[in-house]
Amino acid sequence: MTQRLTLSPQNPDPELIRQAAAVIQRRGLVAFPTETVYGLGANALAADAVEKIFRAKGRPANDPLIVHLASLADVKRVAADISPVVEKLAAAFCPGPLTFVLPKQPFVPLTVTAGLETVAVRIPSHPIALALIRASGVPIAAPSANRFGHTSPTTAQHVWDDLHGRVDLILDGGATSIGVESTVLDVSRETPTILRPGGISREDIERVIGEVALRDNRPSAENESQISPGLLGKHYTPKAELFFCVGEKAQALEKLRELAHQARTQGRRVGLLLAQDDLPSFEDCVPYALGASDDLQSIARNLYAGMRALDDQGADIILARDFGKRGLGLALYDRLLRAASQVIEV
Ligand code: AMP
Ligand code: MG
Repeated sequence: MTQRLTLSPQNPDPELIRQAAAVIQRRGLVAFPTETVYGLGANALAADAVEKIFRAKGRPANDPLIVHLASLADVKRVAADISPVVEKLAAAFCPGPLTFVLPKQPFVPLTVTAGLETVAVRIPSHPIALALIRASGVPIAAPSANRFGHTSPTTAQHVWDDLHGRVDLILDGGATSIGVESTVLDVSRETPTILRPGGISREDIERVIGEVALRDNRPSAENESQISPGLLGKHYTPKAELFFCVGEKAQALEKLRELAHQARTQGRRVGLLLAQDDLPSFEDCVPYALGASDDLQSIARNLYAGMRALDDQGADIILARDFGKRGLGLALYDRLLRAASQVIEV
């Protein structure tokens, strides 16, 4: 049985937070909103509770989880080597959508880190997430609250659709504001390296600490890495086949119109996961407007909801394009690349 509670995202009722914290304390699973996507939380210091996350999601044990904490002081209790680089970044972006990979303290279970000696830590800014972490009194391990490999959830209904019957409680705090996951930055290496682009852009990070490296996350056999297996391969996928067109806007739209035409003549239902201003030149498709093409925040906020909405409307294929690699564009590119059945460069 999965219970569902609705809370104010700004001022969550302390009594409801206490109920949720009690579930965490008795080693149950609570799905909760963060500013990025909904997370599926458990006591990060209890290996048996963490194992339940992997079972509920169908997540392979070699895919490490992010540990959520309420303050930098708490981060220091689970992670070691908090360098000046981390202090600077934390001052600029925490709480917020930036995750640090750091050497772990010995008592952090290897179940959480998938056997690695590093741990991923984040301080979320969402008032419900922060209140839950504080009331639980323990660090909360929380991956995105979806079945493994599926599109990440940005509403409580998305979580329900994927996980009802598999988790104890879902806290409904409305739609999440950023809509894509946190940026994962490995600061345990000589050169800080972005393992996953996300809510804080590479440019933002580089303004604070200078140049960082970016790991190549393109799904491919030779990219199989020991560092973080979960980052690689196909992920975030909708049910429909997603065609992702990469290149200049005009050429990309031209190619997508061609694909739409072909698919329609084969009797397939075509979903469009595009910017508002991209849509008018298509006919007889199921449109989903992500937002204006120059408003990447809105596009990120709506990306996953769009994939789910087009699936719900019975799209056989979904057509999408990239929005460059600057700012949030890089995270959008990464997610669409890995959600895609086919990538077409124009
Ligand atoms: P999610 O399931 O959406 O929360 O994704 C968490 C991401 O953080 C995954 O892609 C993990 O591979 C990554 N991650 C977590 N812990 C580590 C770690 N210790 N080293 C590298 N990546 C990590
Ligand atoms: Mg995930």
